[in-house]
Amino acid sequence: MKMEVIQTRKETLARLERLKAEGKTIGFVPTMGALHEGHLSLVKRSKAENDITVVSIFVNPIQFNNNSDLENYPRTFETDSQLLESMGTDIIFAPNADEMYPDAPSEKYDFGALETVMEGEFRPGHFNGVAVVVKRLFDICIPHKAYFGMKDFQQLAIIKALVRQKDIPVQIIACPTVREEDGLAMSSRNTRLTEKQRQQSTVISKALFSASHKHSSTTIDALKKEMTDEINACSELKTEYIEFVDENTLIPVSSWDTSSKVVACIAVWAGEVRLIDNLPIN
Ligand code: AMP
Repeated sequence: MKMEVIQTRKETLARLERLKAEGKTIGFVPTMGALHEGHLSLVKRSKAENDITVVSIFVNPIQFNNNSDLENYPRTFETDSQLLESMGTDIIFAPNADEMYPDAPSEKYDFGALETVMEGEFRPGHFNGVAVVVKRLFDICIPHKAYFGMKDFQQLAIIKALVRQKDIPVQIIACPTVREEDGLAMSSRNTRLTEKQRQQSTVISKALFSASHKHSSTTIDALKKEMTDEINACSELKTEYIEFVDENTLIPVSSWDTSSKVVACIAVWAGEVRLIDNLPIN
């Protein structure tokens, strides 16, 4: 199938309803564009598991809690669509903000403790904005399977909760974090880093990997302090939070004595750019 770029909700839904009626399975990869290998790994997985792959490209204004981050978010539609076409994507859904939000959205979700820690604490309103857009995208793209990166670990938990709460008939597929050769988690925001910030940012994943190697011989508090000191010793970096959380509830833990896995989650400012990363530790 030749790749189609569709801008309207109505046309996208009609197109996908027709394909579904023909018995085709639909895989969906929501993105904000400025695509990198991390996004492409999701597209590849969707291609392998579905007849039709739909990728959305929409920089969702209501999930940004910082105007300058929204304004400076990289937008590279031409390159993105060429990349997606070369990978055999079937449909790009690329709406503008008026198309997604003809009226100011009023949906309010309640994800309980999942949205009050970490990203939820430091980015108020962020996850409501994510849930609003993802619910609308699911209604338009009617996927059998939808692909999300573990890089956004808390977002993944929110999406799974959304699907449960709204009883959406979609299977959520979690995909591993793709990293640069030096370990930095790929992110569209990485292109905004200065050379020095980019160089220093490698300390984030190094701190995570080192924590996972030595976790059995030390405490969570000691690890947190060591990681924070190591990151903050870099002149361009400032740690916003480091939390060790239960992989299911996302509730911060202070000892290794838990029934589920512990995941370490980090947010770091590199100048004006906010980077996040995480790693299962035990
Ligand atoms: P974004 O465009 O940042 O909204 O990301 C779109 C999707 O790609 C989300 O499900 C992200 O979790 C996923 N993603 C972003 N970066 C990576 C990465 N480095 N590895 C794997 N998935 C990623």
